[in-house]
Amino acid sequence: MSDVNAVDFDAKARAASGQATESAFEDAVLSNLICRQARYPDIATQQDWYMALAYSVRDRMLARWAASTKVYAAKDVKVACYLSAEFLIGPQLGNNLLNLDMEAEAREAMRALGHDLDSLLAIEEEPGLGNGGLGRLAACYLDSLATLQIPAIGYGIRYEFGIFDQEIRDGWQVETTDKWLQKGNPWEIVRPDVSFYVSFAGHTESETDADGRLRVRWIPRRQVKGVACDMPMQGYRVDSCNILRLWKSEAVESFDFQDFNAGEYYEAVEEKVVSETLSKVLYPNDEPEAGKRLRLAQQYFFVSCSLQDMLRMMDAKGTSIDQFADLFAAQLNDTHPSVAVAELMRLLIDERLLSWDAAWDITRRTFAYTNHTLLPEALETWGLPLFQSLLPRPLEIIYEINRRFLDDVRRQYPGDDERVKRMSLIDETGDRKVRMANLATVGSHAVNGVAALHSDLLKQTVLRDFAAMFPEHFLNVTNGVTPRRFLMLSNSRLARLLDKTIGDGWRTDLARLDALAAHADDTAFQDAWRAIRRDNKTALAARIRNSTGIDVDPGALFDIQVKRIHEYKRQHLNALYIISLYRRLCRNPDLDTAPRCFIFGGKAAPGYAMAKLIIRLINGIAEVVNNDASLKGRMKVVFYPDFNVKNGHWIYPAADLSEQISTAGKEASGTGNMKFMINGALTIGTLDGANVEIREEAGAENFFLFGLTAQQVDELKRAGYRPAEYAQGNDELRDALDQIAQGRFSRGDKEMFRPLVDNLLQHDPFLVLADFADYVACQDRVSEAWRDARQWTRMSIMNSARSGKFSSDRAIREYCERIWTTHPVRIDLAQS
Ligand SMILES: *Cc1c(COP(=O)(O)O)cnc(C)c1O
Repeated sequence: MSDVNAVDFDAKARAASGQATESAFEDAVLSNLICRQARYPDIATQQDWYMALAYSVRDRMLARWAASTKVYAAKDVKVACYLSAEFLIGPQLGNNLLNLDMEAEAREAMRALGHDLDSLLAIEEEPGLGNGGLGRLAACYLDSLATLQIPAIGYGIRYEFGIFDQEIRDGWQVETTDKWLQKGNPWEIVRPDVSFYVSFAGHTESETDADGRLRVRWIPRRQVKGVACDMPMQGYRVDSCNILRLWKSEAVESFDFQDFNAGEYYEAVEEKVVSETLSKVLYPNDEPEAGKRLRLAQQYFFVSCSLQDMLRMMDAKGTSIDQFADLFAAQLNDTHPSVAVAELMRLLIDERLLSWDAAWDITRRTFAYTNHTLLPEALETWGLPLFQSLLPRPLEIIYEINRRFLDDVRRQYPGDDERVKRMSLIDETGDRKVRMANLATVGSHAVNGVAALHSDLLKQTVLRDFAAMFPEHFLNVTNGVTPRRFLMLSNSRLARLLDKTIGDGWRTDLARLDALAAHADDTAFQDAWRAIRRDNKTALAARIRNSTGIDVDPGALFDIQVKRIHEYKRQHLNALYIISLYRRLCRNPDLDTAPRCFIFGGKAAPGYAMAKLIIRLINGIAEVVNNDASLKGRMKVVFYPDFNVKNGHWIYPAADLSEQISTAGKEASGTGNMKFMINGALTIGTLDGANVEIREEAGAENFFLFGLTAQQVDELKRAGYRPAEYAQGNDELRDALDQIAQGRFSRGDKEMFRPLVDNLLQHDPFLVLADFADYVACQDRVSEAWRDARQWTRMSIMNSARSGKFSSDRAIREYCERIWTTHPVRIDLAQS
């Protein structure tokens, strides 16, 4: 019935458009152009056609979403809920076409309508709802969940303004507002009927109810309404379609001004404005958290909406509350959603009237927590006065959780007061604070790190006491990335070669790439491999010219470091090496060295002065090096502006060398390292995060290792690290620092980089100077290896071949089996 209507409708649209069409999909695009975008072909812009195409693709997904949702509503289906303050999902059109296996069909339909699919793909604005790795991980996991047919929901915040756009002016980063919603978001379905109230501030009152039990009532000072905004997440070549549900804040009711006198009226308007501000903007990382009341409000807002939504679905299933943890597994992606532990307790006790013990049992069985950082400054805490004033009832619950928990600690470790202080959910040293990592750990049945080394260090450092008390709760799940987006979509040429060589099973079983190893020495295969890599580099070179004006040679070694700019990631170590190489070439113009193109990309937090200075330094070096004709093009330095998922599509497949040079023990896992490896880049890296496992898989002979180990870093710091001694003992290093200090890369300005140079010489918290000599020696080995193109190509092939472990499909299988106990559910569109 509805089908007949749709065809009829599309036919009418076609007639209205005055265009003859050849396929049903063409009809659908025209119909959407006219009926949803309200344009007809003669006056439609590229943006209109993009929207019409996107709506038509969305319609196909929604049929699958309906079939999926119907099946998930069954009483015995367990749903994985991924709670994350960030989802960096990247552009959707290309990925959705890929997962629906309809790119060729869409390309043909658009061609028939007079449009080039690639141009339409290029104008899509990406939802920048994340800072970097953590948000991108959440997005890769949604892709794998749908592809593996696991019933799942991603829960997060619909930021009106995502991560800022980056421009470079005079070598400095300039932030501009990310207006991703300006032209509308065709993937979003707003659901005014799926909305919940969230309370803030006010006070609590307690009373004894008719059964003699103590009941607490929270009398909030204000409430905010959260409205669900859904985006379909289509699995690859399956009918499963999950959703990403993002909450948008609204004022509870529009105010009725007859009830107000003038003063109250403006107060009411203000309330409304504040309510709508909640989901306005994503906070950048690496900024002091202190006093960010709005940030804590955002966290509580999205967590409360999500838990209320889960309870609503449970009610709809007609199951009872004691089965909640059998129906939902909730993963806390870092501590950002960890107030969920207190909020679920509140909902169960205050609203569902469960006993404390029953509620606590459900809560702990429901949650699991993923830790993403060991950096002490990145461990989230909230000052008690702020927490108390914004979330009085959840804070009472946290106190009660803590009271009971510390009783357990005291029972298990009598007399150990220091341990009790360390494990407390409240930090009592100095200004009192809530420790969110402790809350997440105590409220979860599983705690995982994101790479083997990180999970080990976690148990030895920040969560040591907890690992001693609950050893069975701690495990590792090494991160992964989706091979659909980061190989099939962004490196389609390589994907076709893989299909031809080893079949297409690798797309959903990446371990099958191992079969490539048998071809690593095959000359014809090597030539095909190299030709593709060359094409990818040429494509990136064109984009570099477009965005920076710099000409780079696709024949040069592309040495790439793209990631957030941070001192622990050590972009400045790379910069120091570039300066030393430049000096060598200046002093010895005939030096026979491999031409190199150094490419950087990444955003610095707006308030992180040192990171912004590092960007300025890179651009200062680029200015000098790129304009030095005596180099004869043997060296180029590029800062590629506005690194995001979309730009990443061009960058990862074009790298010969992947820079993963963080101070050992500081990078939890990294996922950029995996994207590069899958695409055939060789890594130069420290034994940090997932690099350790990358090297294990690739083989030591296919990896450029340098630097101190995490343990050596620790020992050196303990022994009293004196960075200036490293500069004194190394001519190249001293010279590079002098050059910077003398204004060589700041047009003679000797002040500009003083904070950076002084910091390195006096403190160097991330041991840049200690690792410099070994890094340079390792880079020399890289240059030597590059001379032998066959050998390099062999190593490149071996890296791809051994990258199977780093698929997010593997990671998600581990979460399902070891943490969530969720199972695939087959969806069949034809049967529904
Ligand atoms: C993968 C990715 C990251 C994470 O990179 P790391 O090198 O692991 O820090 C950050 N930003 C974007 C846009 C990404 O795609």
